[in-house]
Amino acid sequence: MINIDSYDEENIFSKILKKQIPSEKIFEGKTVYAFKDINPQAPTHILVVPKGKYCSLEDFLEKADDYEILELIKSIKIIVKSLDIKNGYRLITNVGVDGGQEVPHLHFHILAGKKIGRLTSP
Ligand code: AMP
Repeated sequence: MINIDSYDEENIFSKILKKQIPSEKIFEGKTVYAFKDINPQAPTHILVVPKGKYCSLEDFLEKADDYEILELIKSIKIIVKSLDIKNGYRLITNVGVDGGQEVPHLHFHILAGKKIGRLTSP
């Protein structure tokens, strides 16, 4: 079961940020990194992560400074514009077990390029 109570240095996005495993970079800011999801659920599926060690949105909003919070949110607009997404998109962050979070490092999914469908599965 996922643990988002303390940061796991061995999580896959920590390794991506440390360049220990490869990723397809889409955007990089001072405190933000964005890359393609390895198992895309839509024609465009991007993951946006803070470079800081935050387990989840809860953890981020509790500990991150204002610059990190602003840059993460504003990066969404920059990425959407750079990818020329014109017909809308869905922004998701899963938190914890019930939220369906699998990787214990905060990430936002940007899904676009088709009608994304239902908000939740039955
Ligand atoms: P979540 O279920 O919200 O934690 O989403 C985790 C996402 O990380 C999934 O969509 C995976 O496909 C994606 N993912 C896992 N490993 C990698 C990787 N090495 N590179 C890119 N995306 C990954």
